[in-house]
Amino acid sequence: MQAEIYLDANATSAALPAALAAAAAALSDCYGNPSSTHGAGIRARAMLDAVRARARRVLGAGAGQVVFNSGATEGIQTAVLSALWALRSRQAAGEAAGSLLVYGATEHKAVPESLAHWNALLGTGLELRALPVDENGLHRLDVLRDLAPRAALVCTMAANNETGVVSDLAGIEAVLRDCAGGALWMVDSVQALGKLPLALAATRIDYAPFSGHKLYAPKGVGMLYVREGAPFTPLMAGGGQEAGLRAGTENMSGIAALGAVLGAIEQGGVLRGHDELARYREQLADALRAALPGIVFNAPFEGTLPTTLNFSVPGFASKELLDLFDAAGVRISSGSACSSAKAAPSYVLEAMALPAWRSSAALRMSFGPAADAAFIDAACMRIAHCGQALRAGHLLALEAGDGVLQLWSEGACSWLLLDRASRAGIVIDPLPELAARIAALLRSQNFGVAAVLATGASPGVAAGRAALLEELTEAGVPHRCAGSDAMGWPACHDQVLLGDGASAGALTHGTQVLARLRDGHANSYLLGRAKAGSMAADAARFVFCGADRESVRRLAALAGPETIVCRAVDPFNEVCSTMHADLQSLEKRQAAAGIDAEIDLDPGALSDFFATHPDALLVDVREPCERAVDMAPAWEGRDVLGVPLSRLSEQLAHWLRGEQRPIVFFCRSGNRSVRAARCLHRLGYRNAWHLAGGLALAA
Ligand code: PLP
Repeated sequence: MQAEIYLDANATSAALPAALAAAAAALSDCYGNPSSTHGAGIRARAMLDAVRARARRVLGAGAGQVVFNSGATEGIQTAVLSALWALRSRQAAGEAAGSLLVYGATEHKAVPESLAHWNALLGTGLELRALPVDENGLHRLDVLRDLAPRAALVCTMAANNETGVVSDLAGIEAVLRDCAGGALWMVDSVQALGKLPLALAATRIDYAPFSGHKLYAPKGVGMLYVREGAPFTPLMAGGGQEAGLRAGTENMSGIAALGAVLGAIEQGGVLRGHDELARYREQLADALRAALPGIVFNAPFEGTLPTTLNFSVPGFASKELLDLFDAAGVRISSGSACSSAKAAPSYVLEAMALPAWRSSAALRMSFGPAADAAFIDAACMRIAHCGQALRAGHLLALEAGDGVLQLWSEGACSWLLLDRASRAGIVIDPLPELAARIAALLRSQNFGVAAVLATGASPGVAAGRAALLEELTEAGVPHRCAGSDAMGWPACHDQVLLGDGASAGALTHGTQVLARLRDGHANSYLLGRAKAGSMAADAARFVFCGADRESVRRLAALAGPETIVCRAVDPFNEVCSTMHADLQSLEKRQAAAGIDAEIDLDPGALSDFFATHPDALLVDVREPCERAVDMAPAWEGRDVLGVPLSRLSEQLAHWLRGEQRPIVFFCRSGNRSVRAARCLHRLGYRNAWHLAGGLALAA
């Protein structure tokens, strides 16, 4: 098992050894309740006071308050509640109060969500207004100048969690100082702690929330700075802890750990300074440039935290690179941690008006300020390893054999038909967002393109074809697409007789033919072997068609029950189907889909499973480049067969014809393997399981 290289410090961090020791001491020795008046309580109170005094020094809190709480989300709620409650009182007294709640367009979601929540709950009825940022992620001060006189509360973060862009707080302060309104000001300072100098009392900032776990303290502890004289309303009432500002017995182990981290900031030596961190960033950036040709960094290094790199790579979805890095034991994230489970583009990069592909393909690599040269060297070696695998990965994907390759994007599919002997590919339904990837894949292996075909005539399909043709030309991939019709069918083609005796246009593709079937504005394509100019129904191996399920019924006479059905859409993650399964009634298909409980294999139950299924086959559905950086464990000496999910359709026909040997699919997280196992079940192959939670839990 390779050591983990954790490069997701903006999401969270492991505790510093000193923080661990302090937490353990607080749990075992200094375990008293700081509100108790006996000796144990007094000792706990002394520790609490010492950490608060240290926090005040590190934050430059002056006469302001530092309130310990559960983290930044709580700090943000408290600040927003305090500001809005004060405003509500002014509204009730008929005094002038601002009408806008202004927040930076790139704020963490906790900010606009809290503003909307408390504004609705308190009935303050203010208007939420996003403050735009420029292409470098900096707040538009000209817009702020316009809004500030009407603002009741302004929220602008100190540094952005996705891009590391450091806000121009001095510029914002100057605007707020110059304008007539008396807006309160919250600065989410989560990403600044330990990375930027802080002197809060010397600024006009009213509220500054912090979170411990972003800087080597545990989750569930944080602090809120409140300027002297700024309105304050406790979020929680109760036993009067934290001088009545935040009720609830203090999280003493968390506070002790946070105290150790604050000590590291104060004393120096453990956390590195800006210049050293900037050198580390440069080293990582060089490694990334070498591994990922064409990489673009999404925020200028100048003016960003040196610990954050945000980048996109043309032709790669963020999920693909995330999977590859994860297989190599390098933990990075796509967009922000909270949204990385979703495929949504980054709203932060969208606010910076970056091209759509960069916002949706963005990855974030972030390290903590305690990183050292050995760690960065190890990370760079791992990145180089990923780069090598990526280059070889293209090779493996194509060398896995002639045949059919499936690529997905947001519930839609593109299909590549590859013939290695003639180095020719046919592309069906290329999606615009996959165009660069497909062109790069074909170029890397010196494939030419015989046709770029569509199954439908929608504008999206036409855009995908146009985008791919442009990318092919740019990448220097030879293609024979000139003179083809609107669906991409070449003017020059052969004819083949199909199972119903009718003749259809056909393209020769290696030892097979691809026949075209017209159906109104839609096209379907049959791929199979022809004998003496005829393709019998049972010789049709694949049919490629659009979303319309009825079209398959019309193909029933031309294809066999085991012909694999490859659609332009896959909204339910079904991968692909067979004619037989597609012709079944909807109810039967739903019944077949309700099989989750039976197909999940717990990693701990694997040995027992193998004991009862001695002939079981282990199938790794990760992409070849992921396998190249991390050969999966050979459980109990078993061979592992690599069948990437993108190649499942090719392999299916073989398995469906066989004797249904038990198969256990696995991947990184269980997301791809569950799709493979479900697909087999849906098609009548009952002996398929998958490793729930994937390699991440099995390790
Ligand atoms: N603000 C910023 C800038 C953050 O990065 C985060 C965490 O991702 C938060 C607020 C919320 O912090 P927590 O979830 O620890 O409360």
